[in-house]
Amino acid sequence: MFKTDQRLRRLYNKYNRLLFDGQLPESTVLGWDTALHGDKLGQTISIEEDGNKYYIVSISTEIKKLPIIVHQTLVHEMSHIRLYPFMKHGKGKWKDEVIRVVVKGGWELW
Ligand SMILES: [Zn+2]
Repeated sequence: MFKTDQRLRRLYNKYNRLLFDGQLPESTVLGWDTALHGDKLGQTISIEEDGNKYYIVSISTEIKKLPIIVHQTLVHEMSHIRLYPFMKHGKGKWKDEVIRVVVKGGWELW
């Protein structure tokens, strides 16, 4: 089950400003999802409706009480939005994005 959340929305706005120059869309929907388990801490999907595109970022309820993991997972998903439709991890594009985020200020999350 997915449930939108204001705390995640505030964090998204904060990191959008700090790490993404405010360039990620404000229309992104953020919430907790009870269906994400194990290694799957977060998920980003893109929705197209009547010519409008927006993203839904789900964070696993399993990590709700681990703030630092929530922050890291959220920023990870935000990088997916920045690189969309490229959704892979690993060397190259993803690695460059991770380094960009860390240099920009994401190092404080570690
Ligand atoms: Zn990912």
